[in-house]
Amino acid sequence: MSNQAPVLPKSLPGAAIIGDAALAASDGATLETVNPATGRRLGLLPACDVADVDKAVAAARATFEAGHWRNLAPRARGRMLLKLADAMEAHAEELAVLETLDSGKPISDTRAIDLPLTITSLRYYGEAVDKIYGEVGPGGHGKLSYAVHDPLGVIGAIVPWNFPLLMAMWKIAPAIAMGNSMVLKPSELTSLSILRVAELALEVGIPAGVLNVITGYGHTAGAALALHNDVEMITFTGSGPVGRQLMRYSADSNLKRVSLELGGKSPHIVLADAPDLDAAAEAAAWGIFYNQGQVCTAGSRLLVQREIHDDFVARVIKVAETIVPGDPLDPATRLGAVVSEKQMQSVLTRIARAQQDGAGLRLGGAQVRKDSGGYFLSPTVFDTVSNDSALAREEVFGPVLAVIPFDTPDDALRLANDTDYGLASGVWTGNVNTAHRFARDLRAGMVWVNGWDACDVTMPFGGFKQSGFGRDRSLHALYKYADLKSVTISFS
Ligand code: NAD
Repeated sequence: MSNQAPVLPKSLPGAAIIGDAALAASDGATLETVNPATGRRLGLLPACDVADVDKAVAAARATFEAGHWRNLAPRARGRMLLKLADAMEAHAEELAVLETLDSGKPISDTRAIDLPLTITSLRYYGEAVDKIYGEVGPGGHGKLSYAVHDPLGVIGAIVPWNFPLLMAMWKIAPAIAMGNSMVLKPSELTSLSILRVAELALEVGIPAGVLNVITGYGHTAGAALALHNDVEMITFTGSGPVGRQLMRYSADSNLKRVSLELGGKSPHIVLADAPDLDAAAEAAAWGIFYNQGQVCTAGSRLLVQREIHDDFVARVIKVAETIVPGDPLDPATRLGAVVSEKQMQSVLTRIARAQQDGAGLRLGGAQVRKDSGGYFLSPTVFDTVSNDSALAREEVFGPVLAVIPFDTPDDALRLANDTDYGLASGVWTGNVNTAHRFARDLRAGMVWVNGWDACDVTMPFGGFKQSGFGRDRSLHALYKYADLKSVTISFS
């Protein structure tokens, strides 16, 4: 993709995709989708509710029961995923522009990161699904026992706004590859790009009803999907409070399976023996400021060994000063707008609270580019933060770094693990023994040594503790969308 100025689309997706139809909400209700870089309305989308969710689940169920998707040979289903990947690649620029307009992410990121990673994920599952084997049991004479991975049925997916396409694809690709049908509810803030993908899925010949996308609010459309008695599983990425609510909905309905990818307060640890402090400083800054800090794996707690603390923090600030918010549609911009006015106010409130709690503000801390009408925040660095403070314990989901000094590697491990979360973690060290020790003792779903956010679809993604359970990415995600069926055939 290029450094060319993006071409704005002539029209935007504006309907839910249910079966093969593009539909308004049954009661005509709409919701506004806003460009975070200007504060102005982009368009109106259906505000779906119970009746629309019923329709979408019925479409997904009909396709599943008809069997023309789940009974296709896995390789044939995989080929359809690869066709969709090709179509997305052909429309990558259009999708990148939609993603930028709707989410405030820089076009340089949506072109170079969001779209390529999303397409790669889709291809990975398209190529993997015909390599999934069952098992043959020990059985014995006169008996053949085997276990197969059966699709679950109708999967409900509920996803957030920070990586609208990528988070959706981490769920869509493995779920439909295994033969399931899906009803996906994107965030009410960022529905455009995935609606376009659902249109492309129909265009390339993925059967109607396999991928349905309903737009709407969480407490209405999302709740209706999660409470639905004909949905076998809810796969979710989002916040902890909503994750808890989904488990209640499951208990109150049909005990559907629930898979939760929740937030984090990830520790990024820099030991005095780090091999390259400039590389570590670059990673520490981008580890929190990338995507305007709206990353569940953001390295929001920077733990720095005291003997290098002053020098290292100065290096991080030097990098942070080069990260200047700008117009997301300008290909030179590397930091865009946060997703909504509400999210910006929430981050500003947490910044004010951190100052009241005595954290030392070293950089930023304010809204910028106010004339644009958009929601821009400057990279913000707090130093000498207490690990017991709200800033160190609660997810901010904005460009705010908390620096926490420590004395010994044992202290670092204790502080790193002293959190309710356990999504990502990282350590910089030149000592291989220390690297292995931290890799073993950090209580997190992901550990990165001498780097940050080594994101690849081949490796499982998910958290320990209150960061959730179940994994996206890797072959494990395919198994998540299947039940094991044991079959025994007696033939004596
Ligand atoms: P959110 O939990 O508010 O919303 C996520 C989705 O849930 C949205 O589609 C929303 O409409 C829906 N929702 C809200 N209330 C609902 C309800 N009562 N019933 C059903 N659905 C409901 O999260 P967000 O603000 O969109 O995203 C930010 C959060 O997501 C952060 O906490 C972040 O850490 C987390 N996140 C986690 C990961 C991960 O993989 N672990 C990835 C990205 C974001």
